[in-house]
Amino acid sequence: MSAPAGTRPQLQYLHEELDKLREQKLYQKLRILQGEQRPVSTIDGKQVINLSSNNYLGLTTHRGLRKAAAAAIKTHGVGSGAVRTIIGTMDIHMALEEQIARFKHTEACVVFQSGFVANAGTVQAILGEGDLIVSDELNHASIIDGGRLSKAERKIFRHKDLNQCEEILKETAGWQGRKLLITDGVFSMDGDIAPLPPLCDLAEKYNCIMMVDDAHASGVLGKGGRGTVDHFGMHGRVDVQVGTLSKAVGSLGGYVCGSRDLIEFLYHRARPFLFSTSHPPSVTATCQAAFTLLDSPDGEKLIKKLWANTKFFKKRLKKLGFNTGMSESPITPIIVGDAALAHEFSRQLFEEGLFAQSIGYPTVAKDKARIRTIVTATHKRKDLETALEILERVAKRLNILS
Ligand code: PMP
Repeated sequence: MSAPAGTRPQLQYLHEELDKLREQKLYQKLRILQGEQRPVSTIDGKQVINLSSNNYLGLTTHRGLRKAAAAAIKTHGVGSGAVRTIIGTMDIHMALEEQIARFKHTEACVVFQSGFVANAGTVQAILGEGDLIVSDELNHASIIDGGRLSKAERKIFRHKDLNQCEEILKETAGWQGRKLLITDGVFSMDGDIAPLPPLCDLAEKYNCIMMVDDAHASGVLGKGGRGTVDHFGMHGRVDVQVGTLSKAVGSLGGYVCGSRDLIEFLYHRARPFLFSTSHPPSVTATCQAAFTLLDSPDGEKLIKKLWANTKFFKKRLKKLGFNTGMSESPITPIIVGDAALAHEFSRQLFEEGLFAQSIGYPTVAKDKARIRTIVTATHKRKDLETALEILERVAKRLNILS
């Protein structure tokens, strides 16, 4: 295909790269959500069951959260107007951070514009050249990027392989710089949970800073959705806890919880905090209302519903004979192997009224392409029953199920 008239020769190579993706059937058009993020949504003009959002508790459309956002616009306006360290720290930013720190049973908290920059900004800030990062191979891209930016040495252990992790720590026992042991709490593409207790033991034995990215555990695991640290009773043993405000919390952002010194250091050294404008008041107020909800009986009820739906759906997928990998959380992959097949599977599911995004390389390994399903607390049982019928029908047609 020839490049559009507006393409300057300097960018011709991008056009060629995109053509390659098209030839390999790996080119993906963005799906457009019309209206709200819901368990049954209108996507590209078609009403479909939506099994692809991270809206675990259905909070993106919660009445109380909408009201809180609207009220904050009235009292605080629509933008913060500056970075946190100049004049972009509003009273509600501080109130949210205090609320999250109390919720997570930590001394302090700092909120970032996204979970991505919370990870990348923190890893870059607390480590430098001569330091060492020991990281699970399936950790999120934001941890990988933070590590690259930090210029620290990186050593990767096979997914959840405690023996290999310890081998690395033994080999580097005499390391002169600081050491960070880092893991996702719930892994985003496989939905399995990190072995946090033995990882904390290793961090203590080998004198490492221990860091957990609880993006997919926030609002999902532990009491009131406090995350994997609470789930495993590891309070006080994880130095840096990252969470997201963009998934179960229903809005946007990321946070870091830990000691007062850690948080004050991040005020001074985390580049997204120093160089990028803070959240608009509506986002902050939405998150305040979400944490109040999580800590209430209504929040507990939502989390219970999420897990009831998760157990039902996972059990039925397995019974149908799908390969759901190692999942232990509301994220359940259906692994098909070949990326082109995964994309075709997703396309045909959509035609039949179900949206489940396909995911291929480089997000997952080349032979591990999949569709990823995520149930939420707000899916009705009949939505899930219909989704299972569609999955079975299309998978049989494509010889994914015999
Ligand atoms: N960590 C993990 C494990 C994630 O899956 C994600 C979101 N894809 C993030 C961090 C980034 O969070 P956010 O969307 O808030 O930037």
